[in-house]
Amino acid sequence: MLENLTARPADKILALMAAYKADPRTEKVDLGVGVYKDASGNTPVMRAVKEAERRILADQSTKAYTGLAGDPAFGAAMRDLVLGDSVPAERIAAIATPGGTGAIRQALELIRIAAPQATVWLSNPTWPNHPSILKYLGMNMAEYTYFDSVTRDVNFDGMLADLRQVAKGDVVLLHGCCHNPTGANLTYDQMSQVIEILQEKGAVPFIDIAYQGFGDGLDADALITRQIARAFDNVLIAASCSKNFGVYRERTGVLMAIAKDADQQALTQQNLAFLNRQNYSFPPDHGARVVTTILTDPGLRADWEAELEETRNGMLALRQQLADELKRLTNSDRFDFIAQHRGMFSRLGATPEQVEEMRETHGIYMVGDSRINVAGLNADSVPILARAIVDAGV
Ligand code: PMP
Repeated sequence: MLENLTARPADKILALMAAYKADPRTEKVDLGVGVYKDASGNTPVMRAVKEAERRILADQSTKAYTGLAGDPAFGAAMRDLVLGDSVPAERIAAIATPGGTGAIRQALELIRIAAPQATVWLSNPTWPNHPSILKYLGMNMAEYTYFDSVTRDVNFDGMLADLRQVAKGDVVLLHGCCHNPTGANLTYDQMSQVIEILQEKGAVPFIDIAYQGFGDGLDADALITRQIARAFDNVLIAASCSKNFGVYRERTGVLMAIAKDADQQALTQQNLAFLNRQNYSFPPDHGARVVTTILTDPGLRADWEAELEETRNGMLALRQQLADELKRLTNSDRFDFIAQHRGMFSRLGATPEQVEEMRETHGIYMVGDSRINVAGLNADSVPILARAIVDAGV
């Protein structure tokens, strides 16, 4: 049997990490993998997470199964965090999933059951797992224009033109905030125009929100998700807790499906539980319990929000420092987009050759499409990167 297997292409980011590790230079800089790192290069366990874990360890009296949807308290806490009071709770079905990836997978499987012919539209570019899972599931997909490699901002006219091609019942995947891999995001007003087109076409929005709190703040980063939630009968939302709670390996996420009314919600909830049952029965609980403990305890929540704010402001300061340094070196404002982008990533708009040159000459490791992880920088490595960008002629 196993002789029938064919080799899978190596994951580009993992290959990059291996090359970085093997590089003997001491001044090398890793801007590859999408994990938050502090100024010393560590990915810390957040204080509130440590404390919540301590409490769970002391108080938990059973490890019996939760429910197919996970602990309902987790669903409720995440609903409040992501959606606020934009939509009545009775319209929201939710399941805990293994990370945001699990939520995306379950959302796509739900689409496959409910609308097998629908085309799922992805931004070009998008997080590579989106097309990869879609392809694996054998679903129809299409791309809409997103990034302008000259301005390094959203190519909004191109995006609208492509979205006008969406057919009734198609699903349009949008990043809730902090677009990965570009860092370029729509404004609230631009999203209003997108919403108008999607409503006119009868499309269903599917929001992937994996960086809430990494851009402009917890509520500001949820604005677009809530704007969309208010505007449609049906919306799918895959939310990840990996980054904003720093619980990457605990595999913590939620899929929410907004239904038209309470009856449709009940039917959807049942189908989501069914999908969990088919794929892994009960979703992982530890990370979800940590998140619920934090979100429902005022003291822990305040501490978590404070640490998340420090994290967010640290990334913004690095963006500003890099933009300033590039302004100084080039005597131009053409790199100001770095300070305008939001989230952990920015796409620099360098060619693969320039990316290669920055690696060889300066020991700077970034993904081939010139996406940098801003959190991989610190005050000392920013000038090294700025010099490399200029030397490579980006
Ligand atoms: N969506 C996007 C856009 C992401 O960047 C990520 C993380 N790399 C995820 C979803 C899911 O992350 P996880 O499964 O680790 O929660």
